[in-house]
Amino acid sequence: MSEDEWVSEEPVIVVVEDDPNIADLVELYLRRDGYRPYQAPTGERALEIVALRRPKLVILDIGLPGELDGIDVCRSVRAESDVPIIFLTARDDEVDRVLGLELGADDYVTKPFSPRELVARVKAILRRTEAAALARNDERPEPIDLGADIIVDSARREVTVGGAAVALATREFDLLLHLSTNRGLALSRRQLLDSVWGDGWIGDDRTVDVHVRQLRKKLGDGLVLETVWGVGYRLD
Ligand code: CA
Repeated sequence: MSEDEWVSEEPVIVVVEDDPNIADLVELYLRRDGYRPYQAPTGERALEIVALRRPKLVILDIGLPGELDGIDVCRSVRAESDVPIIFLTARDDEVDRVLGLELGADDYVTKPFSPRELVARVKAILRRTEAAALARNDERPEPIDLGADIIVDSARREVTVGGAAVALATREFDLLLHLSTNRGLALSRRQLLDSVWGDGWIGDDRTVDVHVRQLRKKLGDGLVLETVWGVGYRLD
């Protein structure tokens, strides 16, 4: 691994802009905020750098010298990846073009712009894409192995004991899943009610006790679901 790759833990951002003053200013602000910018003064260079560096985001000027303008670059990049793109536009009619062509631009900034504002937009978009990536992962969680051959598979909403599916009521499953993802923690009946039944649930602590009793009965002695006196329950 080259030294260049080694330091690239900082999110890479490609800045496609032919005006060196603007490009340098944007680069300065991005660096200051912990990003790793690469400049591309032409569309051709932009495509090379995007392919090489796999950026987290592209800042893309529309008016570029040479064969490819920003819109051509956007089309080419979009054919390969979903990397977020922020357009730099010089005129209102460029904004109309960007929005009208449905190029999948994530945002745009009209010149003259404040670099601070641009970096704020970069941050907001990266936060959003990271949250979306996490949400995608959450949709396919790994089954949880509780030991004693008890497996909780939240993706399938299924619990198996020794490979055989056990029929649980909806709240029983939700309660077991919540305990499973908080193993080793003593959770109060109130916390369990809030998390599993929802904040608005009007019920008393016995609701939890009844469901715990069902879980113990249905899943057998292998389930180490302890009563924590004066608190609530803990799954070990
Ligand atoms: Ca330009």
